[in-house]
Amino acid sequence: MGGMVGALRWLVRPGAAVRALAGAAMLAFATAASGAVGAADAADRGVFAGPEAPAPIAIGSLVDGEQILGHALYLRDPDGRLTAAEALAAGDWSAANRASRNQGITGAAIWMAFRLANDTDATRSVVVTHDIAFLSAFDVMVYGRAGGPVVTRFDGAVPFAERPLAYAAPAVEISVPPGETRDVLVRFRNAFPIPMHVGLKLWTMPGFEHQRVAYVALFTFLAACLLMTALFWLLYGVIMRQGRMIAYAVYMVGLAYLCANFFGIAYQLLYPGVPWLQVLGFHWAMFLLIGAAAEFARRHLQLVDRHSVDGTILRVISGVSAAWLAFAVFVRMPAIEAPATFVLLCAVPVYICWLSWRAWRRDGIGYAMWMFLGWLSISASTVLGILGSGLNEPQISWTQMDFIRLTFVMTVAESLLLSLSLAQWLRGQEALREEAERDATRDALTGLLNRRGFGRRVDELKESGGWPGRLWLAAVDIDSFKAVNDTYTHAAGDAVLVRLSEELDRVCGPNDLAARFGGEEFLVLFSADTRPAAHTTIEAARQRFADVPTVFREAFIAHTFSAGLIRLSDHPGLDDVGLLSRADEALYAAKRGGRNRIHHGTAGDPAVPRDRTILTADPAPDGGR
Ligand code: GH3
Ligand code: MG
Ligand code: MG
Repeated sequence: MGGMVGALRWLVRPGAAVRALAGAAMLAFATAASGAVGAADAADRGVFAGPEAPAPIAIGSLVDGEQILGHALYLRDPDGRLTAAEALAAGDWSAANRASRNQGITGAAIWMAFRLANDTDATRSVVVTHDIAFLSAFDVMVYGRAGGPVVTRFDGAVPFAERPLAYAAPAVEISVPPGETRDVLVRFRNAFPIPMHVGLKLWTMPGFEHQRVAYVALFTFLAACLLMTALFWLLYGVIMRQGRMIAYAVYMVGLAYLCANFFGIAYQLLYPGVPWLQVLGFHWAMFLLIGAAAEFARRHLQLVDRHSVDGTILRVISGVSAAWLAFAVFVRMPAIEAPATFVLLCAVPVYICWLSWRAWRRDGIGYAMWMFLGWLSISASTVLGILGSGLNEPQISWTQMDFIRLTFVMTVAESLLLSLSLAQWLRGQEALREEAERDATRDALTGLLNRRGFGRRVDELKESGGWPGRLWLAAVDIDSFKAVNDTYTHAAGDAVLVRLSEELDRVCGPNDLAARFGGEEFLVLFSADTRPAAHTTIEAARQRFADVPTVFREAFIAHTFSAGLIRLSDHPGLDDVGLLSRADEALYAAKRGGRNRIHHGTAGDPAVPRDRTILTADPAPDGGR
């Protein structure tokens, strides 16, 4: 009854009668159904029976594209069964305004009615659109002076090329002759519940042309951004055998597919001739990306090692998603899948967001910060997009679809943030590798090269042609070192080893090598032009080591070393082992000669018979302790 009162209020407004001429047949039906208004009155109301009939929209003053909120009535048809006549006869039409924007997750049909007035002196066309690409129904009924309606059903399954307007989302053109009015009734619904809003838009033709290009360009760009990062990490992940990168890439491919399909451009524009891809739709992509996101988080946040329960939960999520994905591919029942996708799409990002925060703040995983920021933006916009029906606040003018669009924009930001996170993780891996490499080639106590590091550098020298050149090899061994250990403790012995390493390092030039070869045995490989020059180098170290005792816990530890010195080019026929033996023999000769001295080994020296060589014997792992 309230509807009737509203309609009467509208009728008594000046000029209303002039505008409301069309749709007499509908009116007769409406009148018969309500039984309250006479046929003569009805002729003045156009097709409307709502409480607050909207002011007509003047086509001449339409700018580009405008929401018709404030200029339209809407009616919810919960079962989606009403005919146009029944809808027009219903009493519960209400004004479509910002508060009525979001209709919640619903499968109800929504009817919207508005009036167009062509206030120009030429026939003008406008386009009415809805921004949900995959509505299962979008019917536009236009009531003119001559009756009506002229009905246009938009079919989302028709390829771009065959549509009257090549646009990804529902769009219907309405033409109005000069000076005339048209009453327009639009019915739209989705057969299974999705977040629905009453945001019909009305476009001038130039505005619509612009929108058409911008729409396709935007979503193609977003999808391309996601695909590019996905491709990069996919190739990298496959080559480097990194599961987390492959999971990331699958997630991004799922997002790209979802983005392009969600906005209707993918199979319509990109692969119109591939029917099986068309039929798959985007639900399978949702399960694909949810599963991949869970798998990526599980691997990247190291949950298996650190939080096994969460690791198991994520594994279950990816398993369930994979199973559902298969179900979606083969059964294709989006009506059943939709509630599950909504729940997963809300819950999984929020959960991963929390896991990332914990990994970053509590577990000290630095690269998890980027992941947290990425998932925070996705979580916020997804939750608002899906549950935003409660946000009918006057100050927030966004529809749920606006939040969903924001989510897709945020996915590109997220893909970059996750890439950053992967890059930072890679840098950490590189640092670990370098550290391991260093550990493997350096002696832990003195920091000098160890036997392996020395061998490696010798190989490099040979490759670069610097071998044997002007190189000299000195084998150095601390005299009576056992006594140092026995007298001053092992720790004091260590201090002496460090001390000797410093002395040897000091006499080395930038291209020379000092190495700790075994317990208290060292090698120095250095350049010198002459025998006296080579001698001076090692002699300098010997003298300082002998003259300046090591101070250890207030004890002054005196020490000396002996050295055997050879020139590599004096022994052209010898390999590394042979050269080491020669230096070792010279060292042995220095020991026999009374210690604290340097013995020069020459090509003519006879091999020194003895029980054991000093250098070529394998040292015990801890240096012969
Ligand atoms: P020589 O003058 O004949 O070289 O006598 P030496 O006592 O120096 O020779 P020997 O080979 O008998 O003893 C070497 C000692 O070096 C034995 C071992 O305990 C000690 N040593 C080996 N590695 C380390 C180490 O890393 N730290 C300490 N403190 N001592 C070590
Ligand atoms: Mg010794
Ligand atoms: Mg020794």
